[in-house]
Amino acid sequence: QMFSGLGLDDRLVRALSEEGYEKPTPIQMQAIPEVLAGRDLLAAAQTGTGKTAGFALPILHKLMSSPAKATAPGAPRVLILTPTRELAAQVHESVVTYGRHGSVTSLVMFGGVNINPQISALRKRVDVLVATPGRLLDHVGQKTLDLSKLEILVLDEADRMLDMGFIRDIRKIMTLLPRARQNLLFSATFSDEIRELAKGILTNPVEVSV
Ligand code: AMP
Repeated sequence: QMFSGLGLDDRLVRALSEEGYEKPTPIQMQAIPEVLAGRDLLAAAQTGTGKTAGFALPILHKLMSSPAKATAPGAPRVLILTPTRELAAQVHESVVTYGRHGSVTSLVMFGGVNINPQISALRKRVDVLVATPGRLLDHVGQKTLDLSKLEILVLDEADRMLDMGFIRDIRKIMTLLPRARQNLLFSATFSDEIRELAKGILTNPVEVSV
């Protein structure tokens, strides 16, 4: 099985071959077709399995193949929530790397740094926003972020988000998103708490695990 066989855009396949990726990992083989098909996904995958590309590649494919319905500045089509700034920065880097032969834009925002450069960046087009929950809500409070155009939500390392006490922030963010959207939840472990969270967010999800 090759990346091209999964139906991914040629521009993505080219970037992957430049990165030296020869074939999809097991999580990528399971997740990519389901995300492309529009399904909600509940995925058990640890760091190191290639989970980031497992959601980033099909999302980039979808963004490349369907132009934005409206190009509102500061209104992302995709929101990727992560527990830490380090993970947010890594996921953003991956999105930029895989998407570099297309025109998809990605922005990363996390707390602990000046908010003003993030506010300036939101005045431009942002297709993918990678964010930690607290700083995202700061922007919502400042009305510098428009979540009404959101098409896809990703919760990355959801178990760590719960461990770090982000459950209230996540629930608050969920109330701000359009109801009709695709949802992907990645977690290293599946506790009762994760299942409960997933039940409230995902619709008829496909479960994959590696
Ligand atoms: P992740 O599990 O998303 O943190 O990815 C772990 C590492 O695997 C990252 O350094 C990726 O660049 C790399 N990687 C992801 N997918 C592939 C692939 N299909 N072939 C080779 N390396 C990959």
